Order: sequence, then C-alpha cells, then structure tokens
Amino acid sequence: MPAHHGRAHRPAPKGKGVPMSVPLVLLALVALGIIAAIVLVPVLRVYRGTRLVGCPETKRPAAVEIDSIRATFTLFRDEPGRLRLTSCSRWPEKAGCGQECLGEIERDLESCLVRNLVAGWYRGQTCVFCAKLIPEVTWSEHRPALLAPDGTTVSWKDVKPENLPDVFLTHKPVCWDCHVVQGVVRERPDVVTVRPDRDHLYS
Ligand code: SF4
Ligand SMILES: [Zn+2]
Repeated sequence: MPAHHGRAHRPAPKGKGVPMSVPLVLLALVALGIIAAIVLVPVLRVYRGTRLVGCPETKRPAAVEIDSIRATFTLFRDEPGRLRLTSCSRWPEKAGCGQECLGEIERDLESCLVRNLVAGWYRGQTCVFCAKLIPEVTWSEHRPALLAPDGTTVSWKDVKPENLPDVFLTHKPVCWDCHVVQGVVRERPDVVTVRPDRDHLYS
C-alpha cells in the first residue's frame, strides 16, 4: 500500500498552450486564400467590365455586364447557361429577357469590351487641338476625352456605353492636357487669357 505523507494527490496540470493544429490550420487557410487569389483574380478580370452588344431584338447597341463572380466559380463547369448578365442598358424595361446577346459575348469575350473598343478607337489618332499622338489608353490615369459637335470637350464618364457607336462617328479625339485646358477656358474665362483668339478653341 503506498504511503501518504499528509498531502492530497493532485492530478497533473493540463497544458495551457494553443494546440499545434490551430496554427497549422490557419497557415493552410492563408495559403489556400493566396492560391485562390492568384488563380481566381485573373479569371475574374476576364469577365469584368461593361460590354457592348447588339441586342438581337432591336439590332441596336446595348451595354451589358456579366455576372463575373458566377462565371469565375463555374469556370470548369461546361454547362449551358453558365454565363449570365447582371445588367443591361435596356433593363428594367426588358428585364426578364432571354439574354440572347450572350451568344455574341461567348464568341469573343474581349472585342466587345467597352474599354477595348475605346482604346482601339484612339489608337493612332491625334488630338484635334494640339495634333499630338494620343498615348495608348490605360484607363488608370490621364484618360483622353472627346470633342463634341457643339464644341465642348466631353469626358468618358459622361458618355453612355450604348451610345459609343454614335459617339465614334460624331466626336473627335482630344488628349488629356487639352481637355483640362479646355475645361478651364470654358469654366473660368475670367482668369484665362487665350492668344490669339479664344474662338478657335471651340471650333
Ligand atoms: S440582355 Fe436582353 S434586352 Fe439586353 S441586349 Fe441582351 S437580349 Fe437585348
Ligand atoms: Zn491635345
């Protein structure tokens, strides 16, 4: 029989540290997140952006956007109806249509992108004011603008994508610098002196 020396037997204390498996799981989750971002973000970019299509019903241009998240997460599912639209310039009037224009997008995802259409239009064009070659459009900074038939310069954010084909026919290219100068001349004629003649800026 074991001898007791007046002390009660206490169980050994349990470890208080974080189990080793928790940091490992967190590490695995972070690694998975990084891999997912590296793989999925470029795919997401392929589907993002406004596209110009010809509506099969009206034969007129319409601006649409794909459900890029759904398209990305169903990338490897070769099923009909994988691509769906989240917006169309003809909605809500035509909301609930069969989205037949998706066929045009599926045939060529890139060439109907508005940003590609606009960049292609400017390529090789010179500014109507300074005659300098318009640099390649990057959309991140110093976007070129347009000269409208009424003589004012127009920023792209004020142009509806579905009007693009008409705008290409009726407007002229303006570089960023001239667009800024034109804006100041138009809005603050009291502080700007134009030589030799102000009128030519608007014609
Ligand atoms: S979503 Fe419908 S209304 Fe809009 S362009 Fe496509 S088919 Fe036409
Ligand atoms: Zn210019």
